[in-house]
Formats: sequence, C-alpha cells, structure tokens
Amino acid sequence: MQTAEAVAAAGARILRGGAYKPRSSPYSFQGMGIAGLKLLRKAREATGLAIVTEVMSEEDVDLIAEHADLMQVGARSMENYSLLQALGRCRRPVLLKRGLTATLEELLRSAQVIAMNGNLQIILCERGIRTFETATRNTLDIAAVPVLKTVSRLPVIVDPSHAAGVRSLVPILARAATVVGADGLIVEVHPAPDHALSDGEQSLTFEQFRNMMVDLQPYFAIKEDAQSVS
Ligand code: PEP
Ligand code: MN
Repeated sequence: MQTAEAVAAAGARILRGGAYKPRSSPYSFQGMGIAGLKLLRKAREATGLAIVTEVMSEEDVDLIAEHADLMQVGARSMENYSLLQALGRCRRPVLLKRGLTATLEELLRSAQVIAMNGNLQIILCERGIRTFETATRNTLDIAAVPVLKTVSRLPVIVDPSHAAGVRSLVPILARAATVVGADGLIVEVHPAPDHALSDGEQSLTFEQFRNMMVDLQPYFAIKEDAQSVS
C-alpha cells in the first residue's frame, strides 16, 4: 500500500505487483496468491492506479482477470502457448514479456498467438536477454524498441530493473529506453529494498523513484522526436 501511494504521487499510472511469482529458484518466496490479488485491488481503490499482475497458468486466467486490469506474461512463460491462447480469449489487455533467450521474431510470434485467439490488446516488453555478459543481470537490448516499433504497431515498454539487476543502473537504462521511444517503463520499487522478499537489489527506494521520474521529464520530449524519426 505504501509503495502504491508513493509511486502514484510520483506520477506512475499502473501498479505491478506479483501475486504469483515465477522465481528463478524454487526455494525463493513464491508470492501471496489470492491474498496478494486482494491487496492489489485495495491499492487500486486507494490510489486509482490500474493493476497489472502475472498469470502463470491458463487455469488462473479467469481468477486473475477478475482482479487485475492488465495480465502479465512473464519472461519464463512467453512460450507457454496454452496460456497465450487462454489470454487470447480473455478480455483484459496483456503485457507480454520477452523470454530470456527469445528473439524478437519469437516474441512477435507469441503476440500473434494471443491476437489470433481474439485479443488484440497487447503490450510488448523488453526486459533484457541472456548473453555472455555477466556485469548486468541481463543484457538490455535497447535496439529491440525501434525494431519492434518498425515491424509492429503494438506498444513497447522496457523493464530496466530485470535488465540491470542492480538499482544503481535502473535510472540510466530508463533514460535510454525513453530516448529510443519506449511507450512505458516497468520499474521495481520498495519501501525498504534491502528487506524485500523479491528482487530487492534491483528495487528503487521511493526517493530514487521520485528522482528518476523528474530526471525523465526532458527525455519524454526526445521520445516524441524518436517517433517522428522512425
Ligand atoms: C516480473 O516482472 O515480475 C518478472 C518476474 O520479470 P521477468 O518475467 O521479466 O523475469
Ligand atoms: Mn522481479
């Protein structure tokens, strides 16, 4: 609830919270499930933020669609075609994250599976891919934004948090994403990142998030230019 209030005050429009978490390790915190969905709804009522949360299984689509405004497909599920088909039949927009080792063509193929099943409301998300580089958690493929925007009309957003893996790099990658024309950013924020149950190292404090939002203002203007260049 604190995070919802803080990010709304700083200008965020949507709150992403994972009630069902596909963690890298099966021993890590796996999410709060239905209790988490209820908290997200409460946060929406308190702040007016729309809610996006991950759906991991086709069996959960109806339940999550009742609680969320946007359905997230995580990187690990990008090729789960039965999930994508179920989301195609669902009325909620879908936030489709690029798989850890997926090409842009494969990402678009997954988007097509959703679209062919009747749902054209799809947002694509570049969240960093796996390369030989280990300095960052994943390698942010910044070219993905202009490439995807050239070949498709779908909105493209960037997740600098999962790309960077450390909070110090998040604001500068957010800037880069804005300059190349990203339609949005998805950024992890926590009231006390060092105590977070998930991804604390890459979560911004409230103050860092506020500063990032201020820093990005001039770059939104450049984003408009990037759109006219392409
Ligand atoms: C997330 O956005 O909550 C997440 C788990 O990220 P990804 O699926 O990109 O690893
Ligand atoms: Mn995370």
